[in-house]
Amino acid sequence: MSRPTRFEHNQYVGDKRSRVVHDLDAATDACAIDELMASEQFAAFGPDSLAEARNRGYRPHPACTVATATGG
Ligand SMILES: [Zn+2]
Repeated sequence: MSRPTRFEHNQYVGDKRSRVVHDLDAATDACAIDELMASEQFAAFGPDSLAEARNRGYRPHPACTVATATGG
């Protein structure tokens, strides 16, 4: 799938509704990124890291962040 234009410089995008964070470099159909973009309930992180997303209360999405979620 293609990376959303407005997140072309971000790797991680959060879903404000479910408090789940996705890795756009590993996103799958299960992530429903297109639906998230359409909902406009997404969140970007600064710095753009999984650690920062977790600090802000987002859970890593297993379908796309399983490789990095153990890094803590
Ligand atoms: Zn995901």
